[in-house]
Amino acid sequence: MTLAYIGLGSNLQDPYQQLKTSVTAIAALPQSHLQAVSKVYRSAAVGPGEQPDYLNAVVRLETELPAETLLQKLQHIETSQGRVRQQHWGPRTLDLDILLFGNCAQSDPHLTLPHRYLAQRNFVLYPLADVCEQKLVLPDGVDLATLLKRCPRGDLQLTELTLDSGC
Ligand code: ATP
Ligand code: CA
Ligand code: CA
Repeated sequence: MTLAYIGLGSNLQDPYQQLKTSVTAIAALPQSHLQAVSKVYRSAAVGPGEQPDYLNAVVRLETELPAETLLQKLQHIETSQGRVRQQHWGPRTLDLDILLFGNCAQSDPHLTLPHRYLAQRNFVLYPLADVCEQKLVLPDGVDLATLLKRCPRGDLQLTELTLDSGC
């Protein structure tokens, strides 16, 4: 069993509904158990042009799937929710990133673990803190509390929206 942390983001076609639908789909993944779902945050889009704000969340999943299989299944969920891969960092109905997969550390471009921008993104680190101990230690030995101190909350907004965890 591995503990995986998955980042969810959406800024198109009813983002709140997109997140809710994706949490249900993640909860139904085989050989896996959804353990926790973060609060929902609103963040300004990073990327080209004018884009709607994102809604972001993080879930904690206990899984027996290999990381590669988990990525495939998450990409399948993205596609089934209308994700079209066009412009890099363009707006999207759903983005599911594997933030951490146990203590796995690898730099394969197809699957980089931990996620390559984890330490720099407030919209990932703050929801991550909702679903794990701040004592969480990354494979490089740095703990989450340290990353949070280095990454100001900035204009990240906590919303009152909730996701049915199905946990
Ligand atoms: P960013 O990496 O900045 O979050 P993005 O999420 O917009 O960008 P995508 O277009 O969704 O990028 O994905 C591009 C590729 O990134 C995917 O095809 C996937 O193979 C690869 N990738 C590498 N590491 C990961 C990871 N940890 N989680 C999800 N995808 C990853
Ligand atoms: Ca992403
Ligand atoms: Ca992605």
